[in-house]
Amino acid sequence: MTPPTLTNSDIRSRLGLRKVVNVSGTMTFLGASIIGPEAIAAMAEIAPEWIEMDDLQRRASATISRLTGGEAGFVTACCAAGISMAVAGTITGDDLLAVERLPDDTGGRPNEVILQLGHSVNYGAPIDQSVRLAGGKVVLAGTVSSTMPFNIANAITDRTAAVLHVVTHHSAQYGMLSLPEVVAICKPRGIPVIVDAASEYDLRVFLAQGADLVVYSGHKFLSGPTSGLVAGRKDLVRAAYIQNHGIGRGMKVGKESIAGVMAALDAWERRDHTGIRAREQSALDLWMSTLAGMPGLQARIVPDPTANPLDRVEVRVLPESGFTATGFARALAAAEPPVIVRNHEAELGHFFLDPCNLHPGEAEVVAEALISLMAAPRPDYAMDTPRRSAAGWLAWPD
Ligand SMILES: *Cc1c(COP(=O)(O)O)cnc(C)c1O
Repeated sequence: MTPPTLTNSDIRSRLGLRKVVNVSGTMTFLGASIIGPEAIAAMAEIAPEWIEMDDLQRRASATISRLTGGEAGFVTACCAAGISMAVAGTITGDDLLAVERLPDDTGGRPNEVILQLGHSVNYGAPIDQSVRLAGGKVVLAGTVSSTMPFNIANAITDRTAAVLHVVTHHSAQYGMLSLPEVVAICKPRGIPVIVDAASEYDLRVFLAQGADLVVYSGHKFLSGPTSGLVAGRKDLVRAAYIQNHGIGRGMKVGKESIAGVMAALDAWERRDHTGIRAREQSALDLWMSTLAGMPGLQARIVPDPTANPLDRVEVRVLPESGFTATGFARALAAAEPPVIVRNHEAELGHFFLDPCNLHPGEAEVVAEALISLMAAPRPDYAMDTPRRSAAGWLAWPD
């Protein structure tokens, strides 16, 4: 087996951090992304320099426009920040006094933001809070299993500022209105549609489908530093950008993140997407052959639920394995090195192995961890079922 090349292992040791192997996806709680070399170089280069921030953001706007097809764009702290700033912009327009008075005083301006109930997700924080931080008032449309066109059309009043449309595996995956259906309702009524596309690979499709603003994370597929991108209609992008003089201040992005994500966007255009897919496929093949015949484990390859060009291995954990999916994930996380799997569906009896954030050699480390775990005595928590508890959050910093 080739020895793994684990980058950044030194700083992790120095800080007393575990050298985790991430097969869960681009997760904030694991550090958001492997920042690509182009972005790291740009961040290091700009870090000691004075620059004029509005000019840097003008350059970023041009780069974001080139990649998204939007008329303009800017960089903010993260996608959640971008949602707040986009919503705030639809409330204030270009009125700078209104910008300063948010979020509790909207001066009687329309501030209702319509959200399909099945889109009311938590991505580490509840999405409605990103709306409320901006002075918006969420109006839920439909139910968890169904939204009909009238649920949105009849919810639109002279109080409506925007419709927020969320594209994610977190949301209800059926019965919801698609973006083109939402646009067909909103366009004739002049209501802006904001798309949360934090974790989507296609940088153009949502604006092409008629969204007015789209918000991405810079640290998910793009492999940039922690950051968010807002793109779309120029007047709305400007209205969102001027929130830097208001609620956006607490969401400030540094010059290093702007330069870093611009470099990541340049790199995205040149990236060998096919080669990356092939490397991911070889990790999937290795894991499938490793899991084949392991008692009580059933593996299959499943496509990404929102049609990103990414497959994962779904591992169904049956009692014959001596584990539950929860116990298995916990045991892998306790291994050396710790392997963190995608376990948000553990109560359904399965977890996923995500191949998109691996350093060279780590696919083999994961395969070895699977073999070792199945050969070892079962830990006392092996048959645990998921317990939803926030005790860990409340124990920090101990
Ligand atoms: C990750 C995610 C977010 C939050 O993105 P950040 O850039 O981490 O703030 C918002 N919406 C969806 C759908 C996400 O997947």
